[in-house]
Amino acid sequence: MTLRAEALVVGGGPAGSTAARFLALSGIETLLVDRNFSFVKPCGGGVPSFLFSEMDIPEDSVRKRVDKIKAVSPKGDVLDIKLEGASIDIVERGSFDRSLRAEAERRGARLIEAEFNRFSDVGKTVTAEVSVQSPELCGDTSSAGTGNVMKVRADYVIAADGVNSRVRAALGIKPPPSFITLSEKIKAEMADACEFWFGASHAPRCYSWVFPQGEGVSAGTGSFVHRGIGDLWRRFVERRGLSTDGSVRGYKIPLWRGDLYNRGRIFFAGDAAGHVMPLTFEGIYYAMKSGEMAARAIAAGKSGEYKKAWEKAFGRRFSLMRRLWAYFMKGDNRVEKIFELHRSPEVLQASMGIWLRKDLRRGSLLSYINIFRRFLS
Ligand SMILES: Cc1cc2nc3c(=O)[nH]c(=O)nc-3n(C[C@H](O)[C@H](O)[C@H](O)COP(=O)(O)OP(=O)(O)OC[C@H]3O[C@@H](n4cnc5c(N)ncnc54)[C@H](O)[C@@H]3O)c2cc1C
Repeated sequence: MTLRAEALVVGGGPAGSTAARFLALSGIETLLVDRNFSFVKPCGGGVPSFLFSEMDIPEDSVRKRVDKIKAVSPKGDVLDIKLEGASIDIVERGSFDRSLRAEAERRGARLIEAEFNRFSDVGKTVTAEVSVQSPELCGDTSSAGTGNVMKVRADYVIAADGVNSRVRAALGIKPPPSFITLSEKIKAEMADACEFWFGASHAPRCYSWVFPQGEGVSAGTGSFVHRGIGDLWRRFVERRGLSTDGSVRGYKIPLWRGDLYNRGRIFFAGDAAGHVMPLTFEGIYYAMKSGEMAARAIAAGKSGEYKKAWEKAFGRRFSLMRRLWAYFMKGDNRVEKIFELHRSPEVLQASMGIWLRKDLRRGSLLSYINIFRRFLS
């Protein structure tokens, strides 16, 4: 059986559901497939509070509103930061993703639990083969060989199938570099600030974190070397004094390269495109924005608009953050320097403005760069 849709969205996380919602809103007949609607992504769930009004989505999945950040340097210096005029909202990813998919469906997108396997044709239209969870959808359950595989023919595809994107692999595109995280939801712990802990002994070139949740905390650590991540996690647990129950989950986070937008009629959004902010490694907001931008480009019939819109909105900020990350994350001494620099209220205010208020004006980015130039010279 072959289903026909104008647009096929692969993946129903923040990128895919947002893309499907905007496609449907533009009157495009949209089919979204996700291999497991019950999947809950391991995630701290921290998003900027303005996300809900900017993206016009309900706030019911917010479990906590946090207005304090605590950053701890490798040698133990602490920066306690009170956020002025902004906050970080913590969402529960299961209910957040479900609510975004419901919004897409409400706007007219069709949702099917199915796994993308491969393309059987990529030309003026694109034909994808997917395995569906409910065989009756195939309409041909008796014929040997077809099993639960169904074909979908679409004019456009948006790949929003995450860091290990199978769509990307099916086109032979090299994955972006990534790093590994181990994280755990710990009900027995409490935190009233989003905590960022730096130090090569537990998070080389990354950071470890403890974020408040509705109940308990989520905590984790990251590393570019997959081997030994368990030891790094144990060292962080010891340093922070966490009581874990051992139910850690591993998951990758991609590094942004800014080189993957679309290949002809196939667009990439969110983690599948590597759209994760360097240094802070937040990806939810950017996944949603990239889904929206890809959908708008398709609706306008101008593929090139996606890359243009992304670069205009985020290109300079991402490049700056990548340079900062490359400079400072080379070792603990450099991280100590960041802490020293952020003792200055001027620098702290500029950093928070760039990060949380998403201040995109060219002038503010330049003054930020100048602060670092002065410091480094
Ligand atoms: C431990 C950890 C903590 C994080 N904390 C934060 C944070 O606090 N704040 C923040 O902003 N970001 C955070 N991130 C990053 C954030 O989770 C991601 O950037 C975000 O989820 C990307 O959204 P996405 O829609 O692109 O991909 P995903 O959320 O990964 O969604 C991909 C979807 O595709 C589906 N899928 C996969 N393969 C297929 C297939 N073959 N066929 C059909 N469906 C498929 C999956 O089931 C999934 O639903 C964190 C990441 C990790 C790993």
